[in-house]
Amino acid sequence: MPLSIHRDDLLPGRNFIGRWCEAQQGRRFDVIDPATDTVFASVPDSGADDARAALDAAHAAFPAWRAVPAKQRAQILKRWNDLIMAHREDLGRLISREQGKPLAEGRGEVVYAASYVEWFAEEATRANGDVIPAPVTGRRMFALKEPVGVVAAITPWNFPAAMIARKIAPALAAGCTVVCKPAEDTPLTSLALVKLAGEAGVPPGVLNIVTASRERAAEVVDVWLDDARVRKISFTGSTPVGKQLARRSADTLKKLSLELGGNAPFIVFDDADLDAAVDGLMVAKFRNGGQTCVSPNRVFVHTSVHDVFVDKLAARVGALKVGPATEPESQIGPMINARAVDKIERHVIDALERGARIAVGGTRLVSLGTNYYAPTVLAGTDATMACTCEETFGPVVPVTRFDTEAEVVAAANATPFGLAAYFYSRDVKRIWRVADALEAGLVGINEGALAAEAAPFGGVKESGYGREGSVHGLDEYMQMKYLCQGQL
Ligand code: ADP
Repeated sequence: MPLSIHRDDLLPGRNFIGRWCEAQQGRRFDVIDPATDTVFASVPDSGADDARAALDAAHAAFPAWRAVPAKQRAQILKRWNDLIMAHREDLGRLISREQGKPLAEGRGEVVYAASYVEWFAEEATRANGDVIPAPVTGRRMFALKEPVGVVAAITPWNFPAAMIARKIAPALAAGCTVVCKPAEDTPLTSLALVKLAGEAGVPPGVLNIVTASRERAAEVVDVWLDDARVRKISFTGSTPVGKQLARRSADTLKKLSLELGGNAPFIVFDDADLDAAVDGLMVAKFRNGGQTCVSPNRVFVHTSVHDVFVDKLAARVGALKVGPATEPESQIGPMINARAVDKIERHVIDALERGARIAVGGTRLVSLGTNYYAPTVLAGTDATMACTCEETFGPVVPVTRFDTEAEVVAAANATPFGLAAYFYSRDVKRIWRVADALEAGLVGINEGALAAEAAPFGGVKESGYGREGSVHGLDEYMQMKYLCQGQL
């Protein structure tokens, strides 16, 4: 069994609410292997009572955890980082097993996840405040940073380790306690990470996790949204669900970080290095089979280089190896589930009906299984098509021609979303002009791989707000308190 793991106890298969436990109603739901579409594990299908128990535990643990000196919290996070890295192979296999990505990407994600834990271990000790020069005599004025309180973390399935690490590490570093609900498609990696956090010394009650099926997701999360003891929601997922969380948490005015959907443009100007642009697009688009929120969803190529670019791209895309993570040569795994493949198929059919043509791909790969789709390049796409208006979240590249810089910048910005944007150009004036004009939280300039723990990750417009990683990431989990001492 190539994706078996060495430490079976990294699969606790239960919730952690101060201790490992079943859902109070005793229900469980199945975890599906996307490569074969078969059940291979089960976890608790939690409900409102479990959500409440997790919140009670996190709330009770908060005063003691916030009082732990930052340096000690940092040491615990460093041990967590070391344990994650020590279990890189097991965690990489778990990610590939439940999420479907090729094993090299599964292992890579573990390192990426750990990099956030290490980063926030270091940031924990730097939550400095200000000493403010008083405008009058006899006063001293200070601004301190405090942890916000209990944080609810709700994560998606596309990066089962990294999304958890990006939320939980800064929360714990800040001195917050956590309740977490991982995505229903990928609960196992998150349970393994919580197990390792306990081994690293995170005290019981500080980090609680409850798993739930999609049908019960809202029942669990609504308890946290409605309860004033939760002071912060950190969510990565779709824009409709993000908006719903923002609305429902308004009654208790929680702090929010929302990392939502994107519709990233990728622009190739006539002065671009075309081979570098193809390389960058391959990296940006096909990581995780296109199932990333920063994945280019609309490729705009200047008309003078369009045909050459499409030929080069189609040759590279046609050579991609599709298969399960168990095959060492696989570069593109299965999509997460049948719903995902149905959406990709719908987008391709819609594009063809509206006049696009297939340069390569364009079919399900049923011989591999129900969840596979061929890496695809569509030429002749336009702004009326579903594949350019909605996030396809799969291995499909729609290519649209453009003539002028002004036209393409307007087209790139003509979307409610604003997460990532990419462009390739060798003209330094154009580079600064376009970088300024693009409405996006992240811009790749002659670069397809943007994410790094030291960089602020997050969107503008309906891609959400808040930043993960970087020197700004810790502030998302802190609030400022101003102290004014008089009579001096
Ligand atoms: P996707 O469509 O990629 O699965 P979602 O936004 O639906 O993205 O899911 C992201 C996370 O939000 C998952 O953990 C999921 O269980 C959770 N979720 C989905 N629907 C709701 C809801 N109505 N209320 C709270 N959480 C939800």
